[in-house]
Amino acid sequence: MTEHDSQLIRNKILVVDDNEDIIKVMRFLISAKTEVDAIYASSFSEAMALAEQHRDSIFLTILDLNLPDSPDGEVVQHILSLGLPAIVFTGNFDPEMRKQFLGMGVVDYVLKDNRMVYEYIIRIINRIWRNRDIKVLVVDDSFTMRNQLARFLLLQQLQIHTAEDGVEALAVLHEHPDIKLVITDHNMPNMDGFQLVTEIRRNHAREDMGIIGLSGEGTGELSARFLKIGANDFLAKPFYHEEFFSRIMQNLETMEQLEEIREASRRDYLTNLYNRRYFYQRASELFKNAEKSSVQLSVAILDIDHFKQVNDEYGHDVGDRVIKDLAGLLNREFSDQLVARFGGEEFCILFSDVKTDDVMHRLDTFRQQLQEQSLDIETESIRYTVSTGVDVSSSKGIDKMITSADEALYRAKAGGRNRVELNS
Ligand code: GH3
Ligand code: MG
Ligand code: MG
Repeated sequence: MTEHDSQLIRNKILVVDDNEDIIKVMRFLISAKTEVDAIYASSFSEAMALAEQHRDSIFLTILDLNLPDSPDGEVVQHILSLGLPAIVFTGNFDPEMRKQFLGMGVVDYVLKDNRMVYEYIIRIINRIWRNRDIKVLVVDDSFTMRNQLARFLLLQQLQIHTAEDGVEALAVLHEHPDIKLVITDHNMPNMDGFQLVTEIRRNHAREDMGIIGLSGEGTGELSARFLKIGANDFLAKPFYHEEFFSRIMQNLETMEQLEEIREASRRDYLTNLYNRRYFYQRASELFKNAEKSSVQLSVAILDIDHFKQVNDEYGHDVGDRVIKDLAGLLNREFSDQLVARFGGEEFCILFSDVKTDDVMHRLDTFRQQLQEQSLDIETESIRYTVSTGVDVSSSKGIDKMITSADEALYRAKAGGRNRVELNS
């Protein structure tokens, strides 16, 4: 089994607490706000039995320190010795104990001192759940520092790469373009941190690749410069466990929120297909690349036949469901191509690197399948067809191809509908 496979099956969280009310709250929040599968124990012995039984599928444990059969947090040591990550979730604040448990390698030490803390626990669970797919690059010429950072990041279950200077960092990024976050020192041989940030920002926006600059004690000016040249954040050395943990969490969350907003702005509200604006944006990128590599691009516009009659006969809501039905089918059948809702009951597909015969064949097969199927809504069984216009001469550019595909669509309508016409 590869490491990745074993991560995939690690989907369980073990929550240990002897307070029934707390278990109740946790049960509710975990099922409502996370995707994880949770198991619960109310004593040390029960916790250990579950931990042993599910050892290979647990990715995180949340441990109360004060249990009837483990009054001083013995459960923590035992859970850690099974190799399972642990978060201490306790009612007693004792700075000595906190230090001791963090030293033992717990992920976080969280105090149950107010209601908001449950939100925080859920945030951590979701963060660590997602972190397992996120790659982080640590860049520092100091072996000790690289190790310390890597140890902290491993506790957060991130995937870690390391580099000793800016030059090596760029090579690692080239090899692993899916790295999400770079944590970099400034003073390094060959290429320093500022140069590295500048290089990264040539090709990657802040929301695609986050950068956290590290600066030494009393070097506030370094921190400010890191931010000015494009770092998302900075951390001053030496840093505290919790500060580091929170900064990483916050930066990853912000990046994900930006990505969500960006993704939402690309989608059509009714069908969740890409919208017209994103279609043009993505198409112009594909056209640029196609020019260089002489890849054939083809455009198809599909329009539902006599759709106005569907609205008139069954109402606008049913009309919407027909549009959604078609969107779902297009998304499934042409998932390898760029599919968008152009507006109303009109859709557009951009085919990349597909021969004309295959484009026509796929569209005609789709047309036939659609003609055979029906959409059942309550007692009605609604059948509908589409007309399709196609253009395959990519050298004309996207705008002219759309116009030309539209002309072909017009011919398909005029020729009796439920057909695919080619313009070239
Ligand atoms: P043709 O076969 O020539 O395409 O005829 P048609 O009736 O499909 O075309 P027409 O352009 O005359 O009418 C399209 C209708 O689609 C008019 C409009 O009210 C309706 N429509 C546009 N957007 C939506 C939508 O989001 N939901 C619903 N339910 N109807 C929509
Ligand atoms: Mg129509
Ligand atoms: Mg129309």
